[in-house]
Amino acid sequence: MITKIQLCIQMRSGTELWLDEDRIRRIQSLLENIESSKFLNIDGQTINTADIVGIFDAKTMAELVRRKNGEHLCKHGVWHKRGDVCDCRPIPEDQTPERLSLSNDQEKNIEKIKEMTRILIEDNKSKSIKINPAYQKGSNKS
Ligand SMILES: [Zn+2]
Repeated sequence: MITKIQLCIQMRSGTELWLDEDRIRRIQSLLENIESSKFLNIDGQTINTADIVGIFDAKTMAELVRRKNGEHLCKHGVWHKRGDVCDCRPIPEDQTPERLSLSNDQEKNIEKIKEMTRILIEDNKSKSIKINPAYQKGSNKS
């Protein structure tokens, strides 16, 4: 069984009229072409087009219900209950948990330590060359 898409005509009174998409499309084109309000017969019910708030899809109507219940959609696209404060935190994809635990200062310190270590190694190499010329000969193979 194919489930037809339904849309909702919402009335100023709060009444919701759910109709199949093809019927809604016909009503929409009618509404776009009338210049003054009109009474429409929908399944034996009469509505005044002046009292139509809008025509909405199921997603919009579901969001409306949530908002009526006090829920709010935060900037991360998550619904929160009434009174709840958003605690959603975006997790950057390229950061591992270890990297996340390092502050910028810590990162800078690590870079400094790496640089100091490199200088010490270079320094030791040149010293060992001076102290022991034989070492230089021996290491030439590489
Ligand atoms: Zn949130």
